[in-house]
Amino acid sequence: MSSWVPGAAGSGYDVDHLPFGVFSVGDDNPRVGVRIGGYVLDLAPLGSLQLIDGAQVFRARTLNPFLAAGPVAWRETRDWLTSLLSVPGHRDAVEPFLLPLHDVRLVLPIVVGDYVDFYCSEHHASNVGAILRPDGTWLPEAWRHLPIGYHGRSGTVVVSGSDVRRPCGQRRGDERPEFGPTQRLDLEAEVGFVVGVPSGRGDRVPTNAFGDHVFGVTLLNDWSARDIQAWEYVPLGPFAGKSFGTSIAAWITPLDALAQARTRLPGQYPAPPAYLGVEEPAGYDIGLEVWVNDTLVATPPYASTYWSPAQMLAHLTANGASLRAGDLFASGTVSGPRADERGSLLELSWGGTQPITLGDGTQRTFLEDGDVVTLTATAPGALGGSIRLAEVIGQVQPALPPT
Ligand code: MN
Repeated sequence: MSSWVPGAAGSGYDVDHLPFGVFSVGDDNPRVGVRIGGYVLDLAPLGSLQLIDGAQVFRARTLNPFLAAGPVAWRETRDWLTSLLSVPGHRDAVEPFLLPLHDVRLVLPIVVGDYVDFYCSEHHASNVGAILRPDGTWLPEAWRHLPIGYHGRSGTVVVSGSDVRRPCGQRRGDERPEFGPTQRLDLEAEVGFVVGVPSGRGDRVPTNAFGDHVFGVTLLNDWSARDIQAWEYVPLGPFAGKSFGTSIAAWITPLDALAQARTRLPGQYPAPPAYLGVEEPAGYDIGLEVWVNDTLVATPPYASTYWSPAQMLAHLTANGASLRAGDLFASGTVSGPRADERGSLLELSWGGTQPITLGDGTQRTFLEDGDVVTLTATAPGALGGSIRLAEVIGQVQPALPPT
């Protein structure tokens, strides 16, 4: 049953979605809200009024206390909200707590604990290999045996709408290395996963416990400076080429909203080791869109991704590394098999050799100052239509002077 909230039906934010975020109005303290259509439902006063157990978590400035409450609380809250927002008899009680989105300020919804970025798309990894190592082996030796990842910088994860300043860094030069603004600023279209329930140090989170720990999903733009990255990354992986900023959405989509989006993985050969075994369907059918300014430049299909999120989490914790509420791990760039499904400009311009043309007639190999990058996505919802994952938008600001 659709929501009685005007405009919610068909918006991608009906009762089959209900993503969580943190908002403030004027000088108010930030607090937890849920999105329905073009509105935010103010959960703290509504929860108190209705004597909801644990409603104090909605007064927090971040989602972390709610995330830590665990799957039973997540499900009870979702059932409560679904009833409130779909049964017309609740309208009079609920309507006073609906705020138009344009009247609120959305802030970073989680205190990000640790941030890990993986490299799970075979098409992306193969493309990057072909571009950077045309005479070598495209996929690293370990690639089919474990989801390769690196630890990123959680302190520079920012909410959608935040600007990203072009970073300065060191890159290969003609005579000697040069330091200055990156000349190869790129986007990476990714799907991020937000951990709710912690795990202990020394414990493992098996693939079948994924839903006991992970609350939900956000789109993620892993801004990347390719020239800095190319010079620094051997042998320890990305450092300053990626740590300057990572954008996530203002709304976290619960895993429960993606139940209809579950889909089989494309196939894993050789079969992964036992600790990475999964029950199908282990993938998610999420269709991404990558926009540069007003031009749709790619439509990466997350369903084409080789390693599933449950496998990322199992591998991340296989050595006993512990989890905290607010930990964030991401898929790595999502690229599909087709040329128009590539989730980075590195691939879309094939290493900067084949510029793409935007709607205004200008060309791009990499991002220019002033460019606006927007990621959006849809997935099948429980009402027969689609849910719309919240956008991730960011504008490139000019570099500071290098000295
Ligand atoms: Mn990445």
